[in-house]
Amino acid sequence: MKILLIYPYFLETRVHSAEDVRAVPLGVYYVASVLKENQYDVEILNWYNINARPHKIREVLAGKKPDVIGFSILHANRWGGIEIARIAKQIDPRVTVVFGGIGATFLWNHFLTHFREVDYVVIGEGEYPFLDLIRYLESDHSQAIETIKGIAFRQDGQPIRTRQAAAISCLDDLPVPAKYFSYQHLSLTRGCAGKCNFCGSPRFWGNKVRFHSVDYFVDQIERLYRKGSRHFYFSDDTFTVNKKRVIDICKKIIGKNLAITWAAISRVDYVSDEIIYWMRKAGCIQISYGVESGSEKIRNFLQKKITTTSIQNAFALTRHYGIMARAYFIYGCPQESRQTINETIALIEDIKPLSAIFYILDIFPGTLLYEDFKHRLGVTDDIWLNQAEDIMYFETDPELTREMILDFGQKLRSAFYEKLPGFAEALQLIDKEDLYPLHSSFYSRLAMTFDHGDYSHIDAIKHKDGIAEKLYRRSLTYYPNARAYLGLGILSQKRRAYRESGRILSQGLSQFPEDPQLNICMGVSLMNLGEYEQALSHFLGFQDVKEAVHFAAECYKALGLENRDNLI
Ligand code: SF4
Repeated sequence: MKILLIYPYFLETRVHSAEDVRAVPLGVYYVASVLKENQYDVEILNWYNINARPHKIREVLAGKKPDVIGFSILHANRWGGIEIARIAKQIDPRVTVVFGGIGATFLWNHFLTHFREVDYVVIGEGEYPFLDLIRYLESDHSQAIETIKGIAFRQDGQPIRTRQAAAISCLDDLPVPAKYFSYQHLSLTRGCAGKCNFCGSPRFWGNKVRFHSVDYFVDQIERLYRKGSRHFYFSDDTFTVNKKRVIDICKKIIGKNLAITWAAISRVDYVSDEIIYWMRKAGCIQISYGVESGSEKIRNFLQKKITTTSIQNAFALTRHYGIMARAYFIYGCPQESRQTINETIALIEDIKPLSAIFYILDIFPGTLLYEDFKHRLGVTDDIWLNQAEDIMYFETDPELTREMILDFGQKLRSAFYEKLPGFAEALQLIDKEDLYPLHSSFYSRLAMTFDHGDYSHIDAIKHKDGIAEKLYRRSLTYYPNARAYLGLGILSQKRRAYRESGRILSQGLSQFPEDPQLNICMGVSLMNLGEYEQALSHFLGFQDVKEAVHFAAECYKALGLENRDNLI
């Protein structure tokens, strides 16, 4: 039996990197590895962007001839799933289509009522219900389908669901997906301690937080590390929910010398001095917190249950340890006004996040907000027959208009970007000697964000090169750092100050003589000074680097020599 697991495309193109939809959800890897452990032929297809090449869908499906296709459905990619399923059924009407994931779980009835292309829905935690369903499909059907827990299907034309499957009590019983696949998004937990009314997690995972063991989690990192991954996203709802476990993980990462960086998600009321220290030591470079709003009234409405003091503490701690503190904000909430937006701006100025993402409040199935919405407007799940990714709260509230919301968003973003250079300048890192190399790395990475990273394209941020230069210099006050020397060298080159660039780069090369980027940058400065012979010496030995080969050829030409490729 050939099984494909497809992550389908979204209706709209994303603009923010934080809204990144490119990664296949981790749950798909778990489902696939459970199938692999049971000797099934399973393949994952990341089709988040295949809508740009629709002919490819037909071609691949016709070639692979799947018996079953499982789709990973978030709300916003459901139309992609339906369209691909339709094509699959046209190619082979016998193919079985299964929808799963958070989007399918809360709209199982809707999908089975309106879309003949969907044969089954897996509800909730999918690994074992999907496996049971596959076994049923390849069996002689002597087992009654109703006995498979955690699925829904049509019976006599009517959608029905079976009994809920029990939550997996020991997460370590799941095979480590890294045995079979490579990926960067990992998760230590399932579930969240919070109960925010706009979030589907509490109902999807249940009220209890379940954990992988320290060994399982670090083993997963180690396997991926051996396959070449160096950066990870710990995508738990709240990674730090169990302090001891997180500290043990950090100590183990350090003990195993895993030179990795990672970003985590937490809640402001689940961090402390000790946990942040160990997280930083183990490679954490970013923590994202849901702050949502500066207005306590709005946070209360959202049932966020965090105080202004805990927000201030978490951000101060995170900044202090040289970790990028990212804040998520939601606007367009009930009773949102100029006043509440100003309160959010005041909070931003207070906590000085180094990254901020602003979302408009969305209403998703599986949330309390959605139940309230259906009740208030007297609508049903049929609303999802619209070709729209989501329902924005303000569209359902006569007190809020689109113009107001756009204006609020603009104000929030402008305020953040205007203040951001000041937030970076105001940083004061904790004076702990063992963290100096990490502080150096933090400053140089932040500097890079301004001069050629995410912030370099944002016009609203002023004096980006100036702030980058200050940060690179601060980096070097803590520890030698190749990225900082390189950044300063490039900034000088931008000003055509090639002697100055050469000076800082030679300092860098005295510390990191083998660094290809420093050598190439140095060579470029020397070329600009007309010192081709010396420049050439910085390109030779890097024949694997395209730029080095290119510049070496230019040097040979300028020197009137033949390109001695064999020397490069
Ligand atoms: S928004 Fe975050 S804290 Fe709130 S319930 Fe969802 S995952 Fe938990």
